[in-house]
Amino acid sequence: MIKTDLHMHSAFSADSEALPRDNIEAALEKGLDTICFTDHIDYDFPDPEILFDFNIEDYFHELTALREEYEGRIRILIGVEMGMQPHLGERISKTLHDWPFDFCIGSQHVVFNTDPYYQTVWEEYPCGMVYRKYLEETLENVSVLDCFDVLGHLDYVTRYGVPMPEGKNDEVILENMDLIDEILKVLIRKDKGLEINSAAYRKDQAWPNPNPLVIRRYLELGGEIITVGADAHRSMDVAADFDRVKEVLEACNVRALYRYIRRKPERIEF
Ligand SMILES: [Zn+2]
Ligand SMILES: [Zn+2]
Repeated sequence: MIKTDLHMHSAFSADSEALPRDNIEAALEKGLDTICFTDHIDYDFPDPEILFDFNIEDYFHELTALREEYEGRIRILIGVEMGMQPHLGERISKTLHDWPFDFCIGSQHVVFNTDPYYQTVWEEYPCGMVYRKYLEETLENVSVLDCFDVLGHLDYVTRYGVPMPEGKNDEVILENMDLIDEILKVLIRKDKGLEINSAAYRKDQAWPNPNPLVIRRYLELGGEIITVGADAHRSMDVAADFDRVKEVLEACNVRALYRYIRRKPERIEF
């Protein structure tokens, strides 16, 4: 059983109203032994209507108190999901240096200067071009930036755009395997991990992000560090579909997972 969920949001994120305590209680109910809060910071997010940033002092104050309160029942880690853009290296590094974060997920939330979650980019460009551009920008970011621990939801962009046949994005993945290979090689060279994100199942996808083809390729190329997260924005989604993730992990021959404490990877069994 996967007892570690290293990706969840609370009301510290602009797109969530979940109370941290409710996330913890949900995790306990599901039998988890470790969780990590990873609220959003997306500096210079292109949509000025949403501010993906929060008061880090309040964040640590509230989560540290909860961590102490729940000690012995569940391990609570304090992380962040950082939106990556090539010019943000120094700014992100400073934030991570100034605060004792356990974990940083680096995520690509932007393509052609907009979040693919919005319809606009799909109206402006052919879908195939958006998928490829997203991966090109991801490759640039993981190459330029060093400040993250794992790459979040590598093929996130395929949740949007054209509906995938049976929810399977295999064709897009195979078409872009050259770029994906480059991304994975950079991650491995820099000792960065790959996150498996189960939120895709809640968007009617057949696979988590990334597709099992990518997970297999990461292992083939020598990658070892894999983390799992449900990317819950509501407490009820903590550890959502982890049974399906477990099947994928077994099919891909993943032997261990990792968690991060004070930015250091630790191997865990599942
Ligand atoms: Zn994300
Ligand atoms: Zn997230």
